[in-house]
Amino acid sequence: MTNTALQSPALTAARIIDGKASASILRARIKNAVEGLKEEHKLVPGLAVVLVGEDPASALYVRNKGEQTKEVGMNSFTHRLVETTSQADLTALIDALNEDPSVHGILVQLPLPGHIDSDVVLSRVSPEKDVDGFHVVNAGRLAIGQPALTPCTPLGCKLLLEQAIGSMRGLNALVIGRSNIVGRPMAQLLLQADCTVTIAHRYSRDLPELCRRADIIVAAVGRPEMIRGDWLKPGAVIIDVGINRVPSKNPEAAKLGKTRVVGDVAFDEAVTQASQITPVPGGVGPMTIACLLFNTVNAACRIAGVTPPAIGLS
Ligand code: NDP
Repeated sequence: MTNTALQSPALTAARIIDGKASASILRARIKNAVEGLKEEHKLVPGLAVVLVGEDPASALYVRNKGEQTKEVGMNSFTHRLVETTSQADLTALIDALNEDPSVHGILVQLPLPGHIDSDVVLSRVSPEKDVDGFHVVNAGRLAIGQPALTPCTPLGCKLLLEQAIGSMRGLNALVIGRSNIVGRPMAQLLLQADCTVTIAHRYSRDLPELCRRADIIVAAVGRPEMIRGDWLKPGAVIIDVGINRVPSKNPEAAKLGKTRVVGDVAFDEAVTQASQITPVPGGVGPMTIACLLFNTVNAACRIAGVTPPAIGLS
C-alpha cells in the first residue's frame, strides 16, 4: 500500500486500526519463528520478568507477559520479590540473569518501590538482554540509526503504521510527548522511516496548528481526549497511545466510582476527520507485549550469533 491513501480528504468515518488483531498476527509469526529457531539452531529464547512488590496492576501485566511468552513457545522465568527487597539484592539478581545463558531478555517491571533507584537498576541490565530498550546503549544506538532493541510501545506503533500506510517517506509526523519510553523513541523510528518529524511537549506553542499540519499523529501524553477532532488534517492517520481512566458516562455508575478508559484523542470527533485511527482500548496496548516477545527473539538471535528471522505485520 502506498501513502496516497492519506491524500483523500472529506472522509466520513476512519478505518479503525485493530491492534488486537495485529498483535495476534504478530504473535503467530513469532511462534513460527521460535519453532524454526528450535529446529534449526536448538535455540529456545527465554524471557525473565522481575516484579518487586505487590502492585495489582503490575502483577497482572507480569502474569500476561508470562502467559504470552509460553504461548509462543519461549521459556518464561518470573521472579517475584517482596516490596522491601534492597537495591543490592535486586541488582544481584539482575547480574545473575545477565550471566544466565537460558535468559535472552530481562524485563524489570516498573514502577519500582520508592527506595530503589530505577535508573541504576535499568542500567544494570546487559544491553544485549535489554528487551525493554530502556538502556542508554540501546537508546543511543536507536538515535544514531544502528540496530538496537527498541522500546516496545513505539515499536508496536511503528508496525501498526507500516501496516496501515505502507511507506511513510516524506510524510509530516507529529509525536506529542517526549518521554524516554514512548515519545522520544517514537520520533526516532519515524525519522528512520523518512518522515519529517515534529516533537511536541508541554511547552509547545499552538498544538492545534501543529496537529493540522500532520499526516501522522502519535499521541503519548496521558491527558484524556486532549486532542480534538477539529485540530486534525482531514485524512490524517492517528495512533493514540494514551491510557486514561475517567468516570463512566453513566452518571449513576460514575457515582458508584465506575470508570472507563479513554485515549489522548477525542475518538468520536477524530473518527470523522482521520482516515485511520487506533481505538483505546484495543489499539496500541495489545501490541506492546507482542513487541516484547519480538524483541526477545531478536535478542536471543543476536546473542547466539544467528540471523534474526524477518517478523513483521506487512
Ligand atoms: P509521560 O508522563 O512520561 O510523558 C508525557 C509527555 O506528554 C511528556 O513529554 C509531557 O511533556 C507531554 N505533555 C504533557 N502535557 C502536555 C500538553 N498539554 N501538551 C503537549 N504535551 C504534553 O508519559 P508516557 O510517555 O509514559 O505515557 C504517555 C501515555 O501513554 C500515558 O497515558 C500512558 O498511560 C500511555 N502509555 C501506554 C502504553 C501502551 O502500551 N498503550 C505504554 C506506555 C504508556 P514534558 O516532557 O514537557 O513534561
